[in-house]
Amino acid sequence: MPGTLFIVTAPSGAGKTTLVRGLLDRDPQVQLSISYTTRAPRPGEQDGREYHFVDVPTFRALRDRGEFLEWAEVHGNYYGTSRVWLKEQLAAGRDTLLEIDWQGAQQVRKVFPDAVGVFVLPPSLEELENRLRGRGTDSDDVISRRLLGARGEMRHVGEFDYVIINNELHEALDDLVAVVRAARLRYANQHLRHLQYFAFLEQD
Ligand code: ADP
Ligand code: 5GP
Repeated sequence: MPGTLFIVTAPSGAGKTTLVRGLLDRDPQVQLSISYTTRAPRPGEQDGREYHFVDVPTFRALRDRGEFLEWAEVHGNYYGTSRVWLKEQLAAGRDTLLEIDWQGAQQVRKVFPDAVGVFVLPPSLEELENRLRGRGTDSDDVISRRLLGARGEMRHVGEFDYVIINNELHEALDDLVAVVRAARLRYANQHLRHLQYFAFLEQD
């Protein structure tokens, strides 16, 4: 049975990485796709763990060879998702989560219309700024660019199946865990999981 594909999108600083880490701790059946990026690693980030960090010529070469299921330029850097890796994981039945921006989400939905889309909103723009500054990983310049982009990104919230407002972290994490659980209970998944039972129930 193929794995379920989850897309989690949020403006930078909304708490997407924190929530996804919490989900992976609570639900070991979900795995995270590691994207390629041309962004420089932040302190503490490791190549192959948070991202595959590559330079611009390498990214363009991978892109031009069709290696990416989706790619986008976000805040002045390139980001992309490996096509082959993702298809292999889903075919092997592994539930896989993409932490990507709205442009990437649009591209993925065209290929995987059943992907479950989750948009994470901050409780307010003021709190978004507090979190970006509090994280302490980006320069003022980078923070200003991300805040300027946030409104435009949040305009795409209506393209997603679920919306989580990340106010209280533990409540937002419960919400994300609930979305994953509900997705596993969709008819198509339960039908494949319990073929004989459903065949019996649905026979004439
Ligand atoms: P993103 O991946 O969306 O850019 P992060 O997960 O890095 O965001 O979170 C940005 C900052 O906000 C981090 O310092 C994180 O610890 C903090 N944070 C995340 N969720 C909450 C929350 N619900 N309440 C307060 N701070 C939060
Ligand atoms: P960050 O630099 O803060 O890790 O990520 C910046 C933005 O890039 C976030 O909105 C994140 O979701 C997005 N992003 C990360 N990986 C990918 C990817 O593979 N594809 C796309 N389209 N966006 C990505």
